[in-house]
Amino acid sequence: MIDKIINLPPVSEMMRESGLEPKKQYGQNFLFDLNLTSKIAKSVPDIKNTIVVEIGPGPGGLTRAILMAGAKHVIAIEKDKTTGNILSKIVEASDGKLDVIFGDALKINLNDLDKEGYAVCSNLPYNVGTELLIGWLHKIADGANIKSLTLMFQKEVAMRIVAKEKDSQYGRLSVLSNLIADTKILFDVPNTAFVPRPKVQSAVVQIIPNKNKIDKIKDITKLEKLTAKLFGQRRKMIRGIIKTDWEKFGLSGTERAEELNPELFLKISSIIDRNLL
Ligand code: SAH
Repeated sequence: MIDKIINLPPVSEMMRESGLEPKKQYGQNFLFDLNLTSKIAKSVPDIKNTIVVEIGPGPGGLTRAILMAGAKHVIAIEKDKTTGNILSKIVEASDGKLDVIFGDALKINLNDLDKEGYAVCSNLPYNVGTELLIGWLHKIADGANIKSLTLMFQKEVAMRIVAKEKDSQYGRLSVLSNLIADTKILFDVPNTAFVPRPKVQSAVVQIIPNKNKIDKIKDITKLEKLTAKLFGQRRKMIRGIIKTDWEKFGLSGTERAEELNPELFLKISSIIDRNLL
């Protein structure tokens, strides 16, 4: 199978042959560099024993790398049907290891995979990257068996995911990510790696769900409401946003959202009256 994948024409050539052009409305920025796609795929923990879900395979550069890295099985979800010609050639070469589903990743339900579990690996469409991540974090908190997420984001979003309290990028995404998973930036990717070239720089982030952390979350919706409310006015003192007895959380109420660590958000969300959110 690996031989067949290696022998496929280069991605850029397949695009030319099938007349596929990157489309802005789908947030398409493609990767052609084999070293880079292989580096991303090889970052997926225990890939050889894991089903990998790829969102937005596009013309399949990263998909090929995931197959070549030895993934147990690959399920690629793509919204743009015009990539079908190219992807079907990769499916043929994959000896049954690759399934492509055409549809919107925001709507597709992968509950069938929860028994065995899966990893997500993707060069995400930038227009929906954050929304997809929040969706996955919710699913993980609700028991979805996602083993790891290895994801390309705009650098600025990557920094928000890994930020700690008092960092300027610290916000909702940092609190949620850090209460559910262990997160780190694996490496930066320059904008020159993409076709077309985006204005911003990118980075690959690794998110590993952490069971000990997840067990402590009792009500993810309440936690989300609290973070949304306090970070919605991040410069304002928390007592000006929610009227409650802040002292019972060891706070004076004059703090701002960006000073509270993720554990404190969790503690507040588990005790605070739902009607205040
Ligand atoms: N993985 C490819 C393409 C990345 S560009 C590469 O690295 O070269 C992002 C891809 O996501 C595009 O192919 C785009 O069509 C697809 N996409 C955008 N929105 C999507 C959605 N909601 N669901 C599934 N795929 C989507």
